[in-house]
Amino acid sequence: MRFTRVAALATATALTFGMTACGGKDAESGATGTTKTFAAGSTMERLNKAQAIKVGTKFDQPGFGLKGLSGKPEGFDVEVAKIIVKELGIPADKITFVETPSKIREDAIVNNNVDFVVATYTINDKRKERIAFAGPYYEAGQNILVKAADTAITGPDAFKAGDKKVCSVTGSTPAEKIKESVKDVATQVVLFDTYDKCVAALDGGQVDAVTTDNVILLGYIAKNAGKYKLAGPNFTKEPYGIGVKLEDKAFRTFINDTLEKAYADGSWKKAWDGTAGKFGAELGAAPTVNRY
Ligand code: GLU
Repeated sequence: MRFTRVAALATATALTFGMTACGGKDAESGATGTTKTFAAGSTMERLNKAQAIKVGTKFDQPGFGLKGLSGKPEGFDVEVAKIIVKELGIPADKITFVETPSKIREDAIVNNNVDFVVATYTINDKRKERIAFAGPYYEAGQNILVKAADTAITGPDAFKAGDKKVCSVTGSTPAEKIKESVKDVATQVVLFDTYDKCVAALDGGQVDAVTTDNVILLGYIAKNAGKYKLAGPNFTKEPYGIGVKLEDKAFRTFINDTLEKAYADGSWKKAWDGTAGKFGAELGAAPTVNRY
C-alpha cells in the first residue's frame, strides 16, 4: 500500500515536470539524459529527441570560453550552455562546441551551424535584425588592455591624438565603439578575428592597446600575472545574451525560463564562481531577462 502511494506520487511528479523516461548518466557532468515532453514540433523537442546539440562559443577567451589542454572549451559561457542543455534533458557530453568568433555568430545561427550561441555576445538592435536574444545573463563593459608599465593610455581619449594603435575583433561592438575615439580609423584601428591575435600584437609592439569587454581583458590579465592592466574604467554597457533563431520565440522563452531558474537555485552563481569569477570581476545581481 505504502509502495503504491509512493509510486503514484513519483508518477505524478514526473508528469508535472513533463518527464516520461530516464536515460543514462553522463559520467563527466553527472547530468542525466532524460526524455522530456516538450511541445510538438518545438526546438526543445527536436533537440531532446536527438540527444545531441551544437553550441557556439569562443575558444580563446579565458574565463568565458577557452579551449585548453583538455581539448574542450571551459568558462562561464560554457557553464551557462551546460545549464541550458541539462534543462533540455541532454547530457553535457553530448554537446558539440563550435568556435564562433565575433564576426560569424549571427551567420552560425542563421545557417543552422549551431543550435544557440553563448559567446560574450552583446545584445543590440542591429544583431536583433537577424537573430533573437535570450537573457541577459551578465553585464560587462568595454575597457582597454595595456602593458602594465603604460601610463599614457588611461581611456579611449588617448587615441584622439592619432599616434597610438588599438586592436579589437572584427564584428564586435568594441571595434565599432573605439572608432569614435580615434583620429584615423585606417591607421589606428587594427582588427583580427580573435582576441588572442590582438594580445599577441600588443606583445609584439604592433599595437599599443587591446579593447573589448572588461571581463575578457581581465581573463588575459589573470593568465599573465603582472604583464597587463586595464587602462581605466569601463565606458560602455555590454549585456550578454544567448543567440537563437530570430523566429524561435518558444526556444527563447525556454532559455529565459531556464536562466531565471538558474538565478534562483544558485547554479548561475556557481558557474560564475568556478570560472570568470576567479579573475576579479563582479557578478552583480541577477539581470532581469528581457522577454521582448
Ligand atoms: N561583447 C562584445 C560583442 O559581442 C565584445 C566581445 C566579443 O567580441 O565577443 O561584440
